[in-house]
Amino acid sequence: MNNEIKRRRTFAIISHPDAGKTTLTEKFLLFGGQIQVAGAVKSNKIKKTATSDWMEIEKQRGISVSTSVMEFDYEGYKVNILDTPGHQDFAEDTFRTLTAVDSAIIVVDSAKGVETQTRKLMNVCRMRNTPVIIFINKMDREGRDPFDLLDELEQELEIKVRPLSWPINQGQKFKGVYNIYENKLNLFTPDKQRVTEKIEVDIDSDELDGKVGESDASKLREDLELVDGVYPGFKVEDYRSAEVAPVFFGSALNNFGVQELLDCFVEIAPSPKPTKAEERTVEPEEAKFSGFIFKITANIDPNHRSCIAFCKVCSGKFVRNQPYLHVRLDKTVRFSSPTQFMAQRKSTIDEAYPGDIVGLPDNGIFKIGDTLTEGEKIHFRGLPSFSPEMFKYIENADPMKSKQLQKGIDQLMDEGVAQLFVNQFNGRKIIGTVGQLQFEVIQYRLENEYNAKCRWEPVHLYKACWIESDNQAELENFKKRKYQYMAKDKDGRDVFLADSGYVLSMAQEDFKDIRFHFTSEF
Ligand code: GDP
Repeated sequence: MNNEIKRRRTFAIISHPDAGKTTLTEKFLLFGGQIQVAGAVKSNKIKKTATSDWMEIEKQRGISVSTSVMEFDYEGYKVNILDTPGHQDFAEDTFRTLTAVDSAIIVVDSAKGVETQTRKLMNVCRMRNTPVIIFINKMDREGRDPFDLLDELEQELEIKVRPLSWPINQGQKFKGVYNIYENKLNLFTPDKQRVTEKIEVDIDSDELDGKVGESDASKLREDLELVDGVYPGFKVEDYRSAEVAPVFFGSALNNFGVQELLDCFVEIAPSPKPTKAEERTVEPEEAKFSGFIFKITANIDPNHRSCIAFCKVCSGKFVRNQPYLHVRLDKTVRFSSPTQFMAQRKSTIDEAYPGDIVGLPDNGIFKIGDTLTEGEKIHFRGLPSFSPEMFKYIENADPMKSKQLQKGIDQLMDEGVAQLFVNQFNGRKIIGTVGQLQFEVIQYRLENEYNAKCRWEPVHLYKACWIESDNQAELENFKKRKYQYMAKDKDGRDVFLADSGYVLSMAQEDFKDIRFHFTSEF
């Protein structure tokens, strides 16, 4: 069992849309032998259509359940890649997936540098101390100066970086990368579109000049000297404790620098880590099985309404047909057809180890964050909710179906589709999302799965903040003063709905003893 744990690498590839996540994922799968040809992996990107109905969204998003987790064997390692939606309207989904990974690879476009989504995703990694490796992609295009990019990564992502490879030029003149980690030179020829030569060269030897030309050789020597001067030597512990992010350069499309990244990744990335439960920390090596649900995917096939709940195995061995305790319901459950996922197929499995993701057929018994165990009543720590960016009142558009609507809203919120806040002043329900598409998805699913109709009404809000204070009197005073803007989240916690950035900063100014949180995990 310990060997099984040690050889597992469960991670996500994340990026701002268009940086090259899909392309890189596909190249990894090629190396893993899971697919034979490029182009086999569907991009799960949404091309926004004018008539963006839910089915169309789903089709474009390619949520075929099978692409949610991709696993393959590579050099004796078992690699589990957790797929995340590319579209930023589904960013919550991505945030949640990040709670189930042990590390992440962040793809950055060499011309664009750090983008909005990169920053947000990194914040989530930082919150959970997730080790990250950064891949600077599209070196075959004219991009920014590598030193500038590294500075930007450090500043914008608030993490120290350590280049483990170094590019020789870029764009038209791109010649390859020097692999600092292995002290090897990898040369690139654009028409062959792959590493043509991988040679070990002493960078001070004439051989280097012969390979890349005198001026590029001396530039490389200067750069590497500077790199060594500026960045302390690489220590795996610093990466694993999420203090330093190793950086690689390459081109996913040209399959250049990808194998180096993968080779280094499997070697240094952490195997499944201990998971924090409210009661105690659970070690992966423990004999008894435990796991939690981090994602629920609706089945859009109307003939098979059931959903799939994705369970990350945290400890012990998951076995098919074993009785497990569903802690929240205090009920024993068994799974006769748990599934595992291979690039494009899924198959029933008999067992799974820590780090693995098991797909469990779900007919409404699971909520995001639910814990399964062999009997111990532990609760894996709640997954964070983030302050939504868009808000709308949800109203019942068919008075005969108010029960259905209520049930639909409850279940969709349990699935984590969006967040619900109930205004304490007028009792109205407010749905918060990160993007417009989510409202469309909710409306469509309420109609098609719950036979209920909703209507959206505008509400002008800027942010939702979870509030707390040790000063009870001040908290009460605040709630009284802001009674029109106080709401409860799904767990009954106090949330302040600020209608502008100005109002929020005034509130922070006036109520010094109150802490305003922008995520629900604090
Ligand atoms: P995602 O949105 O992050 O999944 O990005 P994709 O993998 O779909 O890539 C976005 C676009 O960038 C596509 O047109 C890719 O062909 C292109 N692309 C990806 N990697 C590279 C690269 O290394 N060089 C160049 N020139 N284009 C790339």
